[in-house]
Parts: sequence; structure tokens; C-alpha cells
Amino acid sequence: MNFSEELKHPVFRAIGSVADKKGVEAYAIGGFVRDLLLARPSKDIDIVVEGSGIALARDVAQSLHAGKVTVFKRFGTAMFRHGGCEIECVGARKESYQRDSRKPIVEDGTIEDDQLRRDFTINALAIRLNSDGFGELIDPFGGLKDLEQKLIRTPLDPDVTFSDDPLRMLRAIRFASQLGFKIEDEALEAIRRNSRRLEIISSERIHVELNKILLSRKPSVGFKLMFKTELLHVFFPEMVALHGVERRNGIGHKDNFYHTLEVVDNVAVGSDNLWLRWAALLHDIAKPPTKRFHPDHGWTFHGHEDRGARMVPKIFKRLKLPLDHQMKYVQKLVLLHLRPIALTKEEVTDSAVRRLLFEAGDDVDDLMLLARADITSKNEAKVERYLRNYDVVVRKLVEVEEKDRVRNFEPPISGEQIMKALDIPPCRPIGAIKNLIKDAILDGLIANEPEAANRLLMHHGPQILSQWNSLQDQVSAGKMNEVEARESFDAWLEGVEVLPTPSSRP
Ligand code: ATP
Repeated sequence: MNFSEELKHPVFRAIGSVADKKGVEAYAIGGFVRDLLLARPSKDIDIVVEGSGIALARDVAQSLHAGKVTVFKRFGTAMFRHGGCEIECVGARKESYQRDSRKPIVEDGTIEDDQLRRDFTINALAIRLNSDGFGELIDPFGGLKDLEQKLIRTPLDPDVTFSDDPLRMLRAIRFASQLGFKIEDEALEAIRRNSRRLEIISSERIHVELNKILLSRKPSVGFKLMFKTELLHVFFPEMVALHGVERRNGIGHKDNFYHTLEVVDNVAVGSDNLWLRWAALLHDIAKPPTKRFHPDHGWTFHGHEDRGARMVPKIFKRLKLPLDHQMKYVQKLVLLHLRPIALTKEEVTDSAVRRLLFEAGDDVDDLMLLARADITSKNEAKVERYLRNYDVVVRKLVEVEEKDRVRNFEPPISGEQIMKALDIPPCRPIGAIKNLIKDAILDGLIANEPEAANRLLMHHGPQILSQWNSLQDQVSAGKMNEVEARESFDAWLEGVEVLPTPSSRP
């Protein structure tokens, strides 16, 4: 079978002609060929040559006047970019695994050797690039047929393939989820048998596959397979704990594992954002540890959003996922995921909407998407009603945001300005006054502008300061210690009633 028509990029003919001159055989191989035959556009082109990949890359890049060639000597590979693609060249390799070591013995080999070391038949396809036979498909394991039948199959005995490199088990599931393929029964059985071997694989390699599963069109496919084969049990026990239904006094709760997957699929329909999908995956993660049964009101999961948010860093750390803004974002959405629904239950006050906008900031739209995705009831009338309520909340969010601009709230008065106005050095009352102003704005008692904030400062500032000073006098007199003074101050602050000052209302 010949695919010369499909090889439109000029790099393929250039590689063929350089390989001809050098007297070596060159092939496009692996994922690129698989995606070409599936008509999935791919910009990463892998080339295998029976000879030096580095020398081939240098000569081809020169003949095409392509940019810089990056050489990875240790791996014997070289990479350059041309015409919007990234081309990686490597010498054909033969790999043999020893029973007692994870690192294979690598030697120079032929194209057949190189195809034999590939994980799946659909990933072992090669297309010849030399001028005699340009475009010819080299398919020793029936990969083309498997592509047509949408089947994931290993070229060798699956127990050997998976035991040699256990990550391949996760890769099989990733391809099943990404391409909508079925894993051959024998291979699936082998994954289940070998699942514990995944323990020797690094978290970095695992999370790359996990992210690809999450980014697939229907991530639940991959997660259900990971659960069924018990791969999930190796690196994600918190998710496994979501599975199952407990019944007491005839009352059950929903299976939070399948519910979570439905939410992830729902979110995936509305957004490609990987971290929003992570938030969906983790939104109920603390349901198992917070689960209680009350004879009067059945199953409860009180505080699961708060506890879940606190579990996020631990899970991210273990899986070596990024710990900076991505993790904070996931944490924030897990923490706030019940807030939109809480808003629909009570009468939607401006003040509650303002608080949500303040806490969610720019992520409020993603939070709404997550909250909508969280409605997975089988009762259609109930879903309809909830969604209608959400529309009310969204309208209100837009209205309040336009009026009050609290989405990216900046305090209208700085700490410096408070110190200057009251003529005081840095001390605890400044934070307290700032908070008072922030709360007054979010509660809608004053407008979000400096003038109103200033009036509030001049009204309440001296009173707060004098309370603090009198407590400090008691500390100096030895009547209480510093900690007691702070506690007493904080308790007193709770009781301060913000008085609307003339014309301070928004
Ligand atoms: P994608 O490009 O969609 O991320 P891919 O698997 O095609 O997936 P790579 O991970 O870059 O992309 O791998 C390129 C090729 O290398 C694969 O198609 C396969 O032939 C081979 N390969 C990658 N990882 C393994 C592995 N663990 N064991 C055997 N072969 C592998």
C-alpha cells in the first residue's frame, strides 16, 4: 500500500533524497504515521534511519535551509523545525529487556528491530521515504487493519510488552480514550494482571498520560478502564475511594465515582481547559472522608468542599503536577464549587453575588461551568429547574459586576493611606480597618470608591484604634498577654456594626 499522496510536506522528499545519497534507509514512523492514516493532523514527525539520525538531520536541514538543528547526543537524536513541523531523526534501535532491570539494552538495529520495540501495532507503522518505494507502508504486525477495526493490540505477547515498560498499560488506555478505540481482550487482561508493575513508573510519566486522558473528548472512558484494570488503585487511591454506594436504613447515596466522571465529561463538552477538568475530577474528592449517616436526614458530606480543597496540594505533589497557579486555580474551584448552587437556593441577594464575584475573581465563568456540569440528576425536571436558576444567577453576576466591579477587587484605600489619615504606625488595626471597608463594599453598605471608603475610615477608624490602644495598655499593665489582647480585639471587631455614614450607600 502506498501513501505518497498523503506525504505533502516537502521534508519527506528531502529526507528521501539525502538518505539515497548517503546509501541509508529512512522511514517516517510511529504516532505520526498513525495520525496520518487516521487523518488527525500532527505536527510532530518522527524519522527513523538505518544509520545516524544526527547526520541525516544535519544534511536535511541544510538542504532545506531549515533553522537550527538541536542534537541530543545521549539519545542519538536530532531535531529541527521546518514548515510548521518539528522533525526528529533517530537511528533505528534494537531494544532488549533483562528480567531484573527496567533499562533496556539498546543497540543499533534495522527498521524491523525498531518496529518490534514499539508498544502497539498502530504505533509500529512506518512509511518508506527513499525514492525507490517512496510512500510504501511497512506494516509487519497488521497495524493498518487494527486502525480500521479501532483496536489496540501489542505486537508481542502483551505480558512481555507491559512488563518490559509498565507505562505502556497506561498508554493503551490513553489511546483508547483519545482515539475511541477498544483494547483487545487479551491485552486488557494482561493490564489487569500486571497493574501493580505501574508502581515502578515515575509520577512525571504517569501524569503526562493522565493529562492526555483528561484532555480526550470523553475522559470517563479512560478513567473507567483505569478503574477496571486497577491501574488507578496504584496512583490515585482517593479516586478509587469515591466508588461504591453504601446503604443504611434503606437509604443509599449516589456513587461518587461515576458522578465525578459524568461531571468531567460535562465540563469537557464546554471547555478544553485541562485544569478546569482537573477541578471537575477533584470537586468531590473529600466526599469519602466527610461522609456521615444521620438517622433523620440520611447521608451528608458536610465540608467536603473545604476538605477537598485542602487535599488538592497533596494529590498534586504526589503526582508531580505544577504547584503554582494551576494548583491554586483547581483548589479555588474545588472550594467554591457549591457556592453557585447555594445561591440558587436562597433568594439571590446582591451581597451574596458580590461575595462570590470577589472570591472567584476572573475564574467565575469557569466556576459556573463546573457548577452546571455538576447537575447530573436523572430527574429531567429537576435538572431543568436547576439550570433555569443558574441562568438567574448568571444574569445577576453580570448585573452586579457591571455596577460594582468587584471581580478583581482592589481595596479603594491602601494601608499607607489609612496610616496617614489616622497618623499611626503599622499596627493590627490597619488590617482590621481594611477588612471592615472590604466587607462593607461586598455587603453593599458602601460604594466601591475611595470617597465612600474614606468616610467609613474616618467614622470607624478612631473607635477601632482606641479599642486596640486600651487593650495594649492592659498588656503593658500585665493584666493580659499579647495573644489574649489579639483574641479579645478580634472578638470585639466581630461585633462592630458598620453604620451607614451620610450618602455612603451605593
Ligand atoms: P502523541 O503524539 O499522541 O502524544 P505518541 O505515542 O504517538 O502520542 P510519543 O509519545 O512521542 O507520541 O511516541 C512516539 C512513538 O514512539 C509512539 O508512536 C510509539 O511508536 C513509540 N513509543 C513511545 N513510547 C513508547 C513506549 N513506552 N514503549 C514503546 N514504544 C513507545
